[in-house]
Amino acid sequence: MSIIVQKYGGSSVADVARIRRVAARVRARRAEGHQLVVVVSAMGDTTDELLELAKQMSADPPRRELDMLLTCGERISVALLSMALQELGVPAISFTGSQSGIITDESHASARILEVRPVRILEELARDKVVIVAGYQGVSREREVTTLGRGGTDTTAVALAAALSAEACEIFSDVDGIFSADPRLVPEARKLQSLGYDEMQELASAGARVLNAQAVEWAKANAIVIHALHAHAAGTGTRIPGIAAGQPPVTAVASDADLWVLATRTGALASLLDFLAERQVRTRFVLGQGGEGPPAEVLVALPLADVHGQQALRAAVAQAFAQTVREVPGLGTVTVVGAGVGTEPRLLEQALTTAASLGVPVHAVHTGPLQVSLLVPAGALEALTRALHQLTAG
Ligand code: ASP
Ligand code: MG
Repeated sequence: MSIIVQKYGGSSVADVARIRRVAARVRARRAEGHQLVVVVSAMGDTTDELLELAKQMSADPPRRELDMLLTCGERISVALLSMALQELGVPAISFTGSQSGIITDESHASARILEVRPVRILEELARDKVVIVAGYQGVSREREVTTLGRGGTDTTAVALAAALSAEACEIFSDVDGIFSADPRLVPEARKLQSLGYDEMQELASAGARVLNAQAVEWAKANAIVIHALHAHAAGTGTRIPGIAAGQPPVTAVASDADLWVLATRTGALASLLDFLAERQVRTRFVLGQGGEGPPAEVLVALPLADVHGQQALRAAVAQAFAQTVREVPGLGTVTVVGAGVGTEPRLLEQALTTAASLGVPVHAVHTGPLQVSLLVPAGALEALTRALHQLTAG
């Protein structure tokens, strides 16, 4: 029998009625003759609410305790979904990340999965049960509970699909797949039938909150096909990877306002990076001039989603680098992603001309093989995203 891994996001299990609908959907897929492993996120905004609670307790909560708290969210949804399935007469059992054999490194709040030992999952599948797994969490070699970073339930699903040699990894959310831009910002955004791993990874890193970047990395490394689908409506969704031939140069546009930008003297860059690495803060990009010559500044952009205790971090940077590092507030990025983007100078030219025509000052440009990113005032992100979406074909 083939194994199907399904993942349901927080909005798809936001209340009891929706959990019942998910249970019905799982039952139907199982009735087609598959073994089902179902990975779920915390209900609705539970994770944000738990983070808010922690913030009320401490400006800089210990990461270990934060992970202890945040993993509760997913425990609630797995238990309820298992109950819902059993109510429907479907044998089911729920597991935490650690019971599922998700082994991670020690990096609390943004742990990386090192290996998966799905011993208990396989035992329960053999007993004909649907196995419900709490997403976003694992256990370190020191037996500490860890979380995988925001949106990490995707990563759990893909890692399990790889470990179980699943036939498919179906990721359900409240949209029908991946769009050429956030439909809430750009009404004319189109649903993409398919998308390459690399482009999806660029989009995920550029602020598109549709699929977690680490999940896409795992999928690529293990050749797992991801099918992104709507949880509660019909639709064909998006397949990753897709067929590469004949792809338009620009696939999609994403924006990211959740960014912290620091300008540092070149000479202080190494110690700033060391300072950030010590605190397990990841960088999105580092841009600027190095070497000899007049005092130059380097821009360091940090994604804030997995940085907890931001005020404490800001104060620590201000204290340690009073003379050499300054904050550049109020900036965000708009990123154009596509298979042909990085090799086409015309595209960057068009992006810059578009920004200029809107009167948007571009603070920095960051290009890569599959993406062009403009660092601009956060207030201009929406308008620029809409304008740059016109570069996508279709
Ligand atoms: N509940 C976690 C979050 O909100 C994990 C996830 O949704 O994938 O980030
Ligand atoms: Mg969530």
